[in-house]
Amino acid sequence: MVPDILYLVASVCFILAIKGLSSAESATLGNLFGITGMLAACMAAYVSVDFANLELSLAALCVGAGIGIAIAKMISMTSLPEMVAGFHSLVGLAATLVAYAAYFAPDLFKISEGSGINKFSLIEMSLGAAIGIITFTGSIVAFLKLRGSYRGHNIPVEFNAFMISSIVCLIIYFVISQNSNVFFGMTAMALIFGATLIMPIGGADMPVIVSMLNSFSGWAASGIGFTLHNDALIITGALVGSSGAILSYIMCKGMNRSLINVIFSQTAVTNNTAVTENNKAPQKSYKQGVAEDAAFILQNANSVIIVPGYGMATSQCQYALKEMGDLLKKNGATVRYAIHPVAGRMPGHMNVLLAEANVPYDDVLELDEINSDFKNCDVAYVVGANDVTNPAAKNDPTSSIYGMPILDVEKAKVVLFLKRTMGAGYAGVDNELFYAQNTMMLLGDAKKTTEAIVKELSKK
Ligand code: NDP
Repeated sequence: MVPDILYLVASVCFILAIKGLSSAESATLGNLFGITGMLAACMAAYVSVDFANLELSLAALCVGAGIGIAIAKMISMTSLPEMVAGFHSLVGLAATLVAYAAYFAPDLFKISEGSGINKFSLIEMSLGAAIGIITFTGSIVAFLKLRGSYRGHNIPVEFNAFMISSIVCLIIYFVISQNSNVFFGMTAMALIFGATLIMPIGGADMPVIVSMLNSFSGWAASGIGFTLHNDALIITGALVGSSGAILSYIMCKGMNRSLINVIFSQTAVTNNTAVTENNKAPQKSYKQGVAEDAAFILQNANSVIIVPGYGMATSQCQYALKEMGDLLKKNGATVRYAIHPVAGRMPGHMNVLLAEANVPYDDVLELDEINSDFKNCDVAYVVGANDVTNPAAKNDPTSSIYGMPILDVEKAKVVLFLKRTMGAGYAGVDNELFYAQNTMMLLGDAKKTTEAIVKELSKK
């Protein structure tokens, strides 16, 4: 009775947590609900086994919490997406291990029937093991891609189609035969398939993949919930699974792609010929300016749109941007921020950083709310954003980012482009905007450049 009530409390808290996390204003409350839900779920687990092996499980809890706190302290904001991918891989591995535990100790899990395991549990455990291990290896590849340590390989679509159909056949055969070799073989194939599924996916499509793996990890956890007869785990897994699926859909819409197109488009290795292997763009002429030039232009602007990207996160220049925005507003200019759905390296990345610097929510607008305003704006201040502004997405059908909606930055009267080098962004595609007549490159660390501009503006 008590565990059931605690599991119910945990489930309600997790639902409220997801609801809270849907907006920046309520995110802190959402996090608190998440923490409370997790505490209630842990308590329920202890109570349901009458506090058996308390010392051992408390020790495990302390070790887990210790590792969690250490990782949270160690990881910088810019490495969060890799950390999330790393954690997804652990959820997947846990699901597979529980499925194996259930297979080898069916009595413990109360799933025995006659001389074997009941059919329904066999379906649950084989699906849990397959989805779990696909999530495990897929998330490891995603982790390496997000770190920039691995770019990818194109894998023939036929190979992946063969793998997925073989896995489905092996699951059916396993449920009929209960043969352990079939179970091992199916897991081994799923392990390889997790990697080959993610390897061919191109840089710009990674946001969809991260949310898809998030969804997979939820369904894998839900599968464990059935095996463990744990309602809270079923509900929580389904919440994560469905919210990840919805996020994948939103990300696909943001990229103007379908999920099928993302999975089968083989864009990891493309002919982005404009960029060499060293991520260096070919020699073309461009205008380069310094902070004084930029301050002069900004001083005379009536409307400024700031376009943040991953470089804002790495340079941590959100505070300097807020200061610059305040000075420009004092000078009579309208200052707004344009957010692309896949800017940065995780959903909502830019919004979180701007909120941290107390940029008013009303000044922060999404792509479709602000895109038509670039043509009337005096200055587009592009701060460490690259792919999300690249006109190749509209003009070059051979480009791996072709079709992705972009911020129409090139339509502004002047584009001030802050980055350190003339190199490409995450998708590895050269940006023709760098060489446009109305673009001035401000090469250097975005925070240092913006601080220098703030200094200039403060003098005037
Ligand atoms: P990009 O990766 O396209 O560009 C970021 C730019 O920031 C780089 O060109 C880099 O140039 C510059 N930069 C890096 N550090 C600094 C610094 N300290 N100071 C100044 N500039 C800096 O980022 P975008 O935000 O435009 O686009 C996001 C990309 O990431 C998209 O391709 C998206 O698909 C992908 N992605 C997004 C995810 C998401 O969920 N949002 C998840 C995974 C991938 P330089 O090195 O020359 O300084």
